[in-house]
Amino acid sequence: MRVSICAHGAAEEVTGSKHLLDLDGCQVLLECGMFQGRRAEARKRNLSLPFAVAAVKAVILSHAHFDHCGNLPSLVKAGFDGAIHCTPATRDLASLILLDSAHIQAKDAEYVNHRRKRGKDRSAVEVEPLYTEEDVVHTLEHCLTTGYGRSFSVADGIRASFLDAGHILGSALVVVEGQGLRIGFTGDLGRPGLPILRDPQVLPPVDYLICESTYGNRLHDPLGQTMDELAEVIVSTAKKGGRVVIPAFAVERTQELIYFLHLLHDQERIPDIPIYVDSPMAVNATAIFRAHPECYDGETRRAFADHAQNPFGFSRLSLVTDLAESKKLNELRLPHVVISASGMCEAGRILHHLVRSVPDHRDTILIVGFMAQNTLGRRLADREKQVKIFGETYPLRARVKILNAFSAHADYEEMLTYLRRLERKRLKGIFLVHGEPEAQANLKKVLEQDGFARVEILHQGEPVELA
Ligand SMILES: [Zn+2]
Repeated sequence: MRVSICAHGAAEEVTGSKHLLDLDGCQVLLECGMFQGRRAEARKRNLSLPFAVAAVKAVILSHAHFDHCGNLPSLVKAGFDGAIHCTPATRDLASLILLDSAHIQAKDAEYVNHRRKRGKDRSAVEVEPLYTEEDVVHTLEHCLTTGYGRSFSVADGIRASFLDAGHILGSALVVVEGQGLRIGFTGDLGRPGLPILRDPQVLPPVDYLICESTYGNRLHDPLGQTMDELAEVIVSTAKKGGRVVIPAFAVERTQELIYFLHLLHDQERIPDIPIYVDSPMAVNATAIFRAHPECYDGETRRAFADHAQNPFGFSRLSLVTDLAESKKLNELRLPHVVISASGMCEAGRILHHLVRSVPDHRDTILIVGFMAQNTLGRRLADREKQVKIFGETYPLRARVKILNAFSAHADYEEMLTYLRRLERKRLKGIFLVHGEPEAQANLKKVLEQDGFARVEILHQGEPVELA
């Protein structure tokens, strides 16, 4: 009997998750994420899947983040004919995210090919999208959903189940059982105390654990003060007659903000001003959050139980999908809050809002997420004196406030606290994936110092024997 695990993505990096489990010849793929990075390299890595697709019996998907589900349509296009197992909320969010990606890819290809035809970029080659909306629809037909805590069959003699991961709506820890072994996979491990979601569940005793390590060398601010800080920003900005602009990712971060704002509104801790969610994707994602109360924690259900309201809808909240309506928000002179995408201010409607708010000393730009190098979001977070938007330079006069506590990943202390609850007698090894080298090295050191035996960092394309 041979059992092995091989990382074909998210090995010593945080993108393109794909981990192939081989249980005595039966191959099960954990995740099929999109690799994101420099254009040419990303395209090359996403086009050719580095394993025999026909040999893959089934896919198990832990959650709907793009770097975990984004390349499933390429797998199906390449001939994969098995089931894609996930939770119901993951399926719904993955549907939204994959269709959005197909749409963006079609637009991108159209733009590049148009420039090429007009001789503006002779070096460019004719580009085809990796997949189309139709490919996404075929992919969704493969999804088999199972709720948390229910065992399901993956292949002959192989079963699996999902536990709460506390990371995003529908996110799961995965337990796979076969060939007399029990293998755990963290997917992305969330944090205790996150709004909306239940805390990560303790895994049953496992023989091996495949563990993420994104924040293996970082510590987050405590979550406790987030509500107070959010209230302070809104109260002080409204007093000045300004508005609060929040660039936020359309899925999860936007809904966390809606949840907090709803609570603050009910507790009368913020003035009664309008709150707009201005992003079609965020509006659709919010509808999916409304439809999955089975994923809410007890606190969320109790907080809104007495007035029969959904956490993701209240009187002061308006969801904006129409573009004309979005532009009208810029004429609004009374204090208000706008949550808009993209999260790093690289594109989308947030740019129109920033054009108005960046030079206005009454307004506040509230940063609630990670801003990558060389993005407008990073320049705002760094409080550069002036920034360029749509080619024009604007002086940064608005207040910039950063809330660091929002993170959906456990930091290394939270990770260690979580892993200490595993039964060690049975645990023979931990394999680290989904982390930059420095983060992985630190987490490995922290775990070894705590007495965990055989902590290994998986390398791209190099299988490791488990039994
Ligand atoms: Zn994730």
